[in-house]
Amino acid sequence: MPITATLINYLMLCRRKVWLHAHGIRMEHTSEVVAEGRLIGLESYPQRAERWTEIEVSGTLPHPNANPVELAAKIDFFDPHLGIVHEVKKSAAKEQAHIAQVQFYLYVLRLNGIRAEYGLIEYPKLRITERVDLTTDDQQQLENQILRAHGILQQEGCPERLPVSQCRSCSFFEFCWVGEE
Ligand code: SF4
Repeated sequence: MPITATLINYLMLCRRKVWLHAHGIRMEHTSEVVAEGRLIGLESYPQRAERWTEIEVSGTLPHPNANPVELAAKIDFFDPHLGIVHEVKKSAAKEQAHIAQVQFYLYVLRLNGIRAEYGLIEYPKLRITERVDLTTDDQQQLENQILRAHGILQQEGCPERLPVSQCRSCSFFEFCWVGEE
C-alpha cells in the first residue's frame, strides 16, 4: 500500500492506527463525525466545485536501505491557477496532524512538477483559516515521517495501543477496547 496523507495524519496520532488502516481495517465509514465533516465542507463552500478541482497524484521517495516508497495523494480541492491546496476541517481545534496532511499534498504535487505554493486549512467552526507552507526543513521532516509510516507498515504485528485516555475520540476505539472497560 502506498503512503497516503491519511497515514501521515494518523502517524501524528497513533502508530497502531496507521497499521490498522493500512491493513484494510476501516472504521471511519461508520463514523458520524466523518460524515459531519464532509457535510461542513460541502455546505460551507458551495462555490468551490466551480473554482477548484479534485486531483490524484502519485510519486516515490527513495529509501536508504530498500525499494523506493510509493506515495499517493487524492486532493479534494486544489486551485491549479494559484497553486493552493484547500482543506476543510470540522474540528473545533487546530491539530498538527492537519498541517502534516496538507504538507504531504504539497510535497507529492511538487514531486510531479506541479506548482504548489502553499495550503489553506479552513476551520468553519472556528471561523479561521490557517496557512500551511512546506519549507526545506518541513520537507526533511515529512520525508522522515513517510519513512516511519512505511516502517510501521512493514511490521508483522499490530503496534501496541495508546493509553485508553488518549483513545476516546478515535474511530477505532471499540475495535481496540471493546470488552475491556
Ligand atoms: S483506539 Fe487508541 S490505540 Fe486504538 S487506534 Fe485509536 S488511538 Fe490507537
